Amino acid sequence: MDFFFCIPLVFGCPNKIKPMSGNQSPRICPRCHNASMFAAKSRTWFEFCFVPLIPLRSKDVWMCGICQLQTVMQPGWAPPIAEPGPGYQPAYIQSG
Ligand SMILES: [Zn+2]
Repeated sequence: MDFFFCIPLVFGCPNKIKPMSGNQSPRICPRCHNASMFAAKSRTWFEFCFVPLIPLRSKDVWMCGICQLQTVMQPGWAPPIAEPGPGYQPAYIQSG
């Protein structure tokens, strides 16, 4: 009796994006203009059957959580930090 195991062997080198730890101020995305950009580390893994095995290379990127824009970090440039506009009202007002 013969058994045939047909296991698809899948190789790949996907990028895993991991937000950098620490408190990050939201930054304005230059494409969709939402305050949804954050600093992240993009790491390419050698993956076998969807199991990440070997980290190949990593780079620091800015990543937008809404439009998925990714830009490699360059010295001297960062997305502008989102600041409350002139009409900003705090969510709650404490009165003495
Ligand atoms: Zn965006």
